[in-house]
Amino acid sequence: MKIVTIIGARPQFIKASAVSRAINNYNRNNCNIIHEVIVHTGQHYDTNMSKVFFDELSLQTPNYNLEISNCSHGAMTGQMLEKIEKVLKHEQPDVVLIYGDTNSTLAGALAAVKLHIPIAHVEAGLRSFNMRMPEEVNRIVADRVSNLLLCPTDTASANLTNEGITEGVYNVGDVMYDTTLYYKQRARQKVILEKLGIEENGYVLCTIHRAENTDDIDRLQNIMTALRKISSTLPVIFPIHPRTHHLLKEHDALQCSDSLNVIEPVSYLEMLQLEMSAKAILTDSGGVQKEAFFHKIPCLTLRDETEWTETVELGWNQLCGANQHTIIDKWEHINDQLCDPTMQPYGDGKAADKIVKLLIEIQ
Ligand code: UDP
Repeated sequence: MKIVTIIGARPQFIKASAVSRAINNYNRNNCNIIHEVIVHTGQHYDTNMSKVFFDELSLQTPNYNLEISNCSHGAMTGQMLEKIEKVLKHEQPDVVLIYGDTNSTLAGALAAVKLHIPIAHVEAGLRSFNMRMPEEVNRIVADRVSNLLLCPTDTASANLTNEGITEGVYNVGDVMYDTTLYYKQRARQKVILEKLGIEENGYVLCTIHRAENTDDIDRLQNIMTALRKISSTLPVIFPIHPRTHHLLKEHDALQCSDSLNVIEPVSYLEMLQLEMSAKAILTDSGGVQKEAFFHKIPCLTLRDETEWTETVELGWNQLCGANQHTIIDKWEHINDQLCDPTMQPYGDGKAADKIVKLLIEIQ
């Protein structure tokens, strides 16, 4: 069977690596019956946002690189749609595999459905219930046209049921949990803490990239002020997303110091090590919220809602929006939170194997 995998953004490389590894394992025992063709849309293209993940996670070099980036949502999705359609017509796959909620996900879904090619959506059913988020629109459309809806949690499959989508829905677990378990030991061997001059449990890790924060200078300034205050008691390590970097510079709001250490984006293994060893994590990233939970590190989410509600219900994550006073207040009481260390709502680390089995059955 032939699968065309469509990816383009950092978290998609990480998710797709788990499924590609499971496909390779399956092929070893089954005469190479799955042929995976990888399409990189180009949405993320810097070496430290793209190539480093292909190298570190042993992802095969993309068969196609569409090189579409740096344009508005409409232009990006439109250009991707046109180019992906051409690839799909040429490749004639049995299934198109899409991940998460980016413009690459949306374009892949639209191109495939119009050509009547079955679609499998990894990370189906997530909802923030905030239609102002571009990701929410992308997910809802992708789920509506997908044939195989591969949910990471019971909450995600319940969301689909509530929308009347019940066919082809499977809770397989979370592929990012698979990836974390697979690379955890290797990540411990990284030397990023020494490189940055920090110690285990002696710093806070922060990432910011959601449009609701970066495109609203008031929210962004509030977050930066809170980070500066926190950094007066404990160093803050801030691997900065290129878009956030650009916007902070544009508004002349990037005042870093020794204790507010703004660094280039780090590799996946370095990021895992930074997460595992942090005192706490402040983030608006979906993936980083979850990884904080996997490592049992307290997390403050710089958003008003989250798709990963289990992390909040189990006490490891608190929503604090982007108001500096709320962030500082939650930070000061971060150790008072009651956390449940026993529950694991993200599967058993074998989500990718389950996905491959379901993909085989779709033929
Ligand atoms: N990540 C990374 N290096 C960084 C920041 C994040 O490898 O400098 C990883 C992180 O560990 C997680 C993923 O990128 O696996 C999250 O991606 P991102 O925050 O860009 O997107 P989201 O999860 O919000 O969709």
